Amino acid sequence: MSSSKEPKKVLIVGAGPTGLTSALELARRGIVPKLIDAKECIAPTSRATGLSVKSLELLEASGVTPRLVATGIKVNNAKIMQEKGKGITLDFNELAHKYNFLLCLPQNHTEIIMQKRFEELGGNVAYDTRLVSLTQKKDGTVEAVMEKNGKRLTETFNAVIGADGVNSTVRDRMGIKFKEKIYPGKWSAAEFDSKDWPHKQDEIQYFIGKDGNFAVVMPLGGNRYRAVANTDDAMSCIFGKHNIDKLHFNAAFDVSVRHVKTYRKGNIFLAGDAAHTYAPAGVQGGMNLGIRDACSLARRIAEDDTKTYTRERKADGAATIRDSNLAVRVAGYSNVFMKAARNMTVGTAMRIKTLRQKVIKKSLGAR
Ligand SMILES: Cc1cc2nc3c(=O)[nH]c(=O)nc-3n(C[C@H](O)[C@H](O)[C@H](O)COP(=O)(O)OP(=O)(O)OC[C@H]3O[C@@H](n4cnc5c(N)ncnc54)[C@H](O)[C@@H]3O)c2cc1C
Repeated sequence: MSSSKEPKKVLIVGAGPTGLTSALELARRGIVPKLIDAKECIAPTSRATGLSVKSLELLEASGVTPRLVATGIKVNNAKIMQEKGKGITLDFNELAHKYNFLLCLPQNHTEIIMQKRFEELGGNVAYDTRLVSLTQKKDGTVEAVMEKNGKRLTETFNAVIGADGVNSTVRDRMGIKFKEKIYPGKWSAAEFDSKDWPHKQDEIQYFIGKDGNFAVVMPLGGNRYRAVANTDDAMSCIFGKHNIDKLHFNAAFDVSVRHVKTYRKGNIFLAGDAAHTYAPAGVQGGMNLGIRDACSLARRIAEDDTKTYTRERKADGAATIRDSNLAVRVAGYSNVFMKAARNMTVGTAMRIKTLRQKVIKKSLGAR
């Protein structure tokens, strides 16, 4: 990394939540990076819907958190319902923390808030601009070739952040492999409108079916809801009387797990989905892990402290993926006895205060 007194020139590839967080964290420290994205504008899709307590804490310094909290839905309870058997309610307010709720906000709204704040800090997102190639120079700088409207532009940077998602060009140009492991069995996600959804707005609901399969339903604001299930048809897992006014989609997907061996080569770094992908697991999911990568990397670049970046982020990534894999395996038990044991254990554990509080802490992504 450059040790001159010149402000560092940093290129961030990808303006998703990871790239935007990196940009905010550098800009608030006086390094306004160049932030490019191949797409035309923020994608309208909701994707991640839950911000963890840790993300809210980390985004305070850039001034983003109060805006997220003012815009999102504060979910205070999780209602766990069994088609056969008693249900229970988890009260998130039991967590002794100022963010003692699950903040539900579609990812595109989070990105709009982050981008606006980045602009206030003097930055802007260069859309329609694609990274083509990267070359590490002997002096430690990195030459980037970008393309906009068919025109090529070459620029030299002190550091490059690859926040360009699962099909990362940066990762590819670094020559880093991304091996995939696919879990057996499909999962699914659906989005629907229901004017008279028969459950509370400040609540998420878990539907545990007679067959042991489950769906979780989260509010997205207005009449819109998101369901995720451990089967190939999320809507069929929602039991009880309810009306659906419009089904936007109900799609099955594979749960695949990938994690890079190194997050760094010279002054080129990876963060977010470019470095890891796994089950879209609420507050433990990829957006929240990407925000943690971004905050660490931006501080390290600003303070010339990048040597242990891989070690720190790989450990957090591996632990988060381990937790997510465990949740996927337990949720996906196909054996009826294992399913019954899981459902009974959930019911009993939730009645024990210390266990319940541990679950609440995990559910909200508090650390
Ligand atoms: C249905 C669904 C539900 C999900 N639910 C959750 C959840 O509940 N919780 C959670 O935490 N996560 C969830 N996720 C995952 C979450 O959406 C991702 O982890 C998150 O978007 C990763 O952010 P990112 O910034 O690292 O990458 P991305 O959001 O993928 O952004 C990468 C950006 O890089 C740009 N780009 C790519 N290549 C180039 C190039 N060559 N040049 C310039 N730009 C480029 C792309 O256009 C893109 O905008 C969900 C995902 C899906 C699909």
